[in-house]
Amino acid sequence: MRAFTYERVSDAQTAVVAASRAGAKYISGGTNLVDLMKLEIERPTHLIDISHLPLKDIDDLEDGGLRIGAQAANSDVAADRRVRIRYPVLSQALVAGASGQLRNKASVGGNLMQRTRCPYFYDTAAGCNKREPGSGCSAIGGFNRIHAILGASDACIATHPSDMAVALAALEARIELLGAGQATRSVAIGDLYRLPDETPHIETILGMGEMITGVTLPPPPPGRQVYRKVRDRASYEFALISVAAVVATDGGTVSSVRVAFGGVGPKPWRSVEAEAALVGRPATTATFRAAAEAAMADAMGRGHNDFKIELAKRTLCRTLAQAAQSK
Ligand SMILES: Cc1cc2nc3c(=O)[nH]c(=O)nc-3n(C[C@H](O)[C@H](O)[C@H](O)COP(=O)(O)OP(=O)(O)OC[C@H]3O[C@@H](n4cnc5c(N)ncnc54)[C@H](O)[C@@H]3O)c2cc1C
Ligand code: SF4
Repeated sequence: MRAFTYERVSDAQTAVVAASRAGAKYISGGTNLVDLMKLEIERPTHLIDISHLPLKDIDDLEDGGLRIGAQAANSDVAADRRVRIRYPVLSQALVAGASGQLRNKASVGGNLMQRTRCPYFYDTAAGCNKREPGSGCSAIGGFNRIHAILGASDACIATHPSDMAVALAALEARIELLGAGQATRSVAIGDLYRLPDETPHIETILGMGEMITGVTLPPPPPGRQVYRKVRDRASYEFALISVAAVVATDGGTVSSVRVAFGGVGPKPWRSVEAEAALVGRPATTATFRAAAEAAMADAMGRGHNDFKIELAKRTLCRTLAQAAQSK
């Protein structure tokens, strides 16, 4: 690990000013950043510890929604009674991620900003456009079993690893940002991440020093919520494919639905194609399969990950069936 300076801040504005310095980086739970620093993939010269900022609260909003502070621990959000009752898909997604110990340290902001788990990104001997722009993509033509089937480019085929972000996409969450000069803005979770195109090292729309201060959830959508995660082992593993679904039925017909995938692309993947194929149709296996075909119509494998296209379809069908049947 390289030498760096460290400062712990107690208010958000000080943090943002400090983070506007070249080479500065926020550290929250440190569960992703410290690993990357040890490998010299992340090389910050100045760390701003934001873990003590007063951003841990989960508050009811007047419209029936919820505001979750960026410093709330993943385990606290998952266990919050209001989250479990009103947004069970979020609670399920969080519990499906990492381990109990990691979830105690991991923050909401850090979870959203965690880096990809592409093995070549972690291997400093391999070419990787995300880690070292212009050095190529070792996953294309390499062992790409866990890689993206949607939204990738010829420069990068990495997936985004967060389970929480997938549930937030289905819940249409908004992300609160604080920038220098106290500029605040709120962006839809679907707009937070950038597709790789030719610049895979630029992963989000955050500006220099900008910090996530919280997540707002609109009132719960109608219907039943399910998060299903398919992975190589039962726990402590990232998703090969995951699906967050919110499904409402009326007399056996799908009346409203939200669908988002994890493990398929460089960002949590809301599937408007699947949703359009579901609304107004009978909640049957045939409808679910048609929605799955629509969701994956543009999917493209790169060899080892070809199986993910069918896996994504089946995971969606199973998730929809469960959501449509549960009481
Ligand atoms: C073994 C292992 C298994 C895991 N399995 C899963 C899994 O199955 N599913 C899953 O979703 N995750 C998984 N994770 C990832 C884990 O959830 C993340 O490491 C964690 O959520 C990151 O949060 P943190 O607070 O520790 O972030 P940090 O490591 O402190 O920071 C991560 C990044 O976010 C930035 N950052 C932090 N807070 C903010 C903020 N408020 N605003 C702007 N930038 C910020 C930092 O600068 C840094 O770049 C796993 C991790 C490990 C080590
Ligand atoms: S997929 Fe992206 S992160 Fe992985 S090696 Fe290629 S450029 Fe790097």
